[in-house]
Amino acid sequence: MITDYKTTVKLPDGGGEVIVKLIRVPDETDEMLCKKCAFATVGKETGNMPAISWLRRIMEARHSPIRELHFAFEFIGLPSYIATHLSRHVHARPYIQSQRNDRQDKYDRRAARQDAPVNMIWCMEGEELQIIANKRLCGKADAATRAVIKAACGLVQCHVPYVGGLLVPMCEYHGGVCHEMKPCGRRGA
Ligand SMILES: [Zn+2]
Repeated sequence: MITDYKTTVKLPDGGGEVIVKLIRVPDETDEMLCKKCAFATVGKETGNMPAISWLRRIMEARHSPIRELHFAFEFIGLPSYIATHLSRHVHARPYIQSQRNDRQDKYDRRAARQDAPVNMIWCMEGEELQIIANKRLCGKADAATRAVIKAACGLVQCHVPYVGGLLVPMCEYHGGVCHEMKPCGRRGA
């Protein structure tokens, strides 16, 4: 478990602060399995660890073996409504602190604001991580949620060399054209 990859995010409009931690990045077992799975699909075997450049290429191509590359984040003091946004990414696993009145006594959940703080651990793999970045870094995503995801992606790009530059909004991924129903402003730019 990683303990020192963390940052503090100031939310817009005086929304308080959230501590964002990156607690799991792909280890050698993940990376070797990713390469083994890729080779298996073309009837080959491999015994050598993948090079950083190979991991980069398969991440960029978004081929299915990147689902063996595991990431996990921990959020401390996350507004509950942001946890709700994040939990919609159904290929990631959210573990959100309960607000049940019989499990906590800080407030009455029936009267709690939507920004009541919760802690959350969020686990995912290399494909879902890129999709989450695409959706939540777009200018159409909620600004506070975007700030949290920007910090989370920043930590990954600092600590996992082959992910650098791949965690971008969908509009950037699509060459600067935003395909949102009401585009964020990049269309045609
Ligand atoms: Zn956009």
